[in-house]
Amino acid sequence: MLSTARAISLIKCFPPSPIFRNNTKMDPKPIMVSGSFSRSSSSSPPKEDFRVEGGAVASISLQEWQGWGTSSEVPAMVVEIVEDLKNLEKDMDEQMSFGGLGGKLQGSLKVQEDKKHRATYQALGDSEKKLQFFSARQIACRLLGSRGYLCQKCWLAQEDCMCSKIIPSSLWRGMRFWLYMHPKDFLRQNNTGKLLWQIFGVQAATLCIYGIPEHEEIMWNAFELAGKSRVWCLYPDKSASAKSVQDAMFNGSSTSLEVAQTDGDSPLNFILIDGTWNNSAAMFRRLKERAKLAWGAEDIPCISLETLTVSPMHKLRPQPSWDRTCTAGAAVGLLSELHLHPEFSSIGLDKHAEAVEDGLEVLLDALTSRRLRMGRSITRRERHNRDIC
Ligand SMILES: [Zn+2]
Repeated sequence: MLSTARAISLIKCFPPSPIFRNNTKMDPKPIMVSGSFSRSSSSSPPKEDFRVEGGAVASISLQEWQGWGTSSEVPAMVVEIVEDLKNLEKDMDEQMSFGGLGGKLQGSLKVQEDKKHRATYQALGDSEKKLQFFSARQIACRLLGSRGYLCQKCWLAQEDCMCSKIIPSSLWRGMRFWLYMHPKDFLRQNNTGKLLWQIFGVQAATLCIYGIPEHEEIMWNAFELAGKSRVWCLYPDKSASAKSVQDAMFNGSSTSLEVAQTDGDSPLNFILIDGTWNNSAAMFRRLKERAKLAWGAEDIPCISLETLTVSPMHKLRPQPSWDRTCTAGAAVGLLSELHLHPEFSSIGLDKHAEAVEDGLEVLLDALTSRRLRMGRSITRRERHNRDIC
């Protein structure tokens, strides 16, 4: 279990999730193309270059793609963008290299790539295509920049790999998490959503990247199969006033009986939006639009956690003014609140919550050791909260 001091560190260290109530206001601006060849926050060079004979960068194989925590096919547009980058490399007769703070693409190739992708983006006709291109480019760049540098399972630099310390656990087969992740959070070392599939496996906690059609199709196929009564998004939807776990799942409907009798063939689906608060508004809008297509005009059912009344979360959030926590912390909150309900109390969801808390502690240790080794401060800096760790 976490000590209070450690719990405070956890909250201060990880990027916040938009899942809890009373968050700061959302940014209504549309997303912009601003991606980079971000590899990591380290200036260490990659250990391997992943080049095939003749010097060209290797394409993204299915095995490589799935190694990062997904069971989907390699997204077609990601493949296309990697091929474009390879062609650019060839045309310019310059090898891609990554480095510097932020692990960005270096040299004149970066300048050319920047011009090229901006022109492509501008030429795209509709906003859906623009979003898909934006997401695929982010993913392609992160994949290439992380090769041989990050551990594929824990998304930490290989020298900080924490995989041996993560204890896998079987999630109750009646529920499934969906990590609806913003592409800018993909392969981030301090992302906490990844812990869920590290602990529970990719079938119980499934990655779905925003704007990647191959992922979104898998998720929505599962939702349509499950039906609207078995899908919830953890999000404080102000317009539809998100409900508490109790009100959303147990009040005045047949859900409670269904819930008690549920089996692995038709699990309860919970979407965790895994992105910054600013990005989450657009992500939530997309979920709502897709829900309309699937189920008619109604909004997607939303749950807002009662974080201050639940003991494990209270432990993580000792000060009432703290109204945000990380994505894995949100999963802990949900599991804990469900466990409090009599129909769920014998399932062992409290043990699942502890498994995720333990995972968070392991991640925090790894990130802290890294900062210390690199001579950086381990206390929070007063700057944008995405760059904390
Ligand atoms: Zn690892």
